[in-house]
Amino acid sequence: MPLVRAYISIGSNLNNPVDQVEQAFHALANNLPASQLAARSPRYRTAPAGGPTGQPDYLNAVAALETALTADALLAALQAIETAQGRVRAERWGPRTLDLDLLLYGSITRNDPWLTLPHPRLHQRAFVLYPLNDIAPELMIPGQGPLAALLKNCPPLNMTCLDIKNEPATITPLNPFPVEPFSNLPP
Ligand code: ADP
Ligand code: MG
Repeated sequence: MPLVRAYISIGSNLNNPVDQVEQAFHALANNLPASQLAARSPRYRTAPAGGPTGQPDYLNAVAALETALTADALLAALQAIETAQGRVRAERWGPRTLDLDLLLYGSITRNDPWLTLPHPRLHQRAFVLYPLNDIAPELMIPGQGPLAALLKNCPPLNMTCLDIKNEPATITPLNPFPVEPFSNLPP
C-alpha cells in the first residue's frame, strides 16, 4: 500500500504535559505499525479554548507521519495511544492527559462522526494552525484552501512557542524544558 502523509495534533493539560507530549511523539515514532514519524513541530503553550473554565494551559504540537495504515486504523491506533497514556473520556473539551486528533490524511475529505477529514475544527484553532505551519507552510487544506490563508484569520492569541523554530524538521530530542513552570498564562 502506498504511503500517505498524515498530520496529527497533540495536546495535553494534565499529569505533566511536557512528559505527555514527549511520550506521544515517542509512541508515534515507535509504536505505530506501518508508519514513520516524518516531522515534529515546536511545542506551544496555549490558553484553553472552550470547555470548562479554570482548566490548566495546554501544551500543543503537531506531528507529520508517513503511514500505510488506513485512516480508520490510524485513528484507532491514536486512540489506543491516548488510552495508554491514561486518557479518560469525560467532559467534552475538558482537561485531558493526551488528545491526539487526525488533522489530515492525504487530501481525503470525509464527513463521518467517527472520523471527519480534515479535522472539523482545524481551520479555527491557532494551536493547530501555527505548529502545522512550522512544519508544512505550503500545505493545502482540502476544502479550505492554503494554510497560509487560514492563518490570516486566526491570530496567535494567548499562545507561546517554547522551542526554537525553523530548525530542520528532524526527529531530534527537544531543547531542555521547563523554561519556566507550566502554569496558567496571565490574564
Ligand atoms: P476532541 O478532540 O474534540 O476534544 P475527542 O478526542 O473526545 O474530542 O473526540 C471525540 C470524537 O471525535 C472521537 O470519538 C472521534 O471518533 C471523533 N472524531 C471525528 N473526526 C476526528 C478526527 N479527525 N480526529 C480525531 N477524532 C475525530
Ligand atoms: Mg480528540
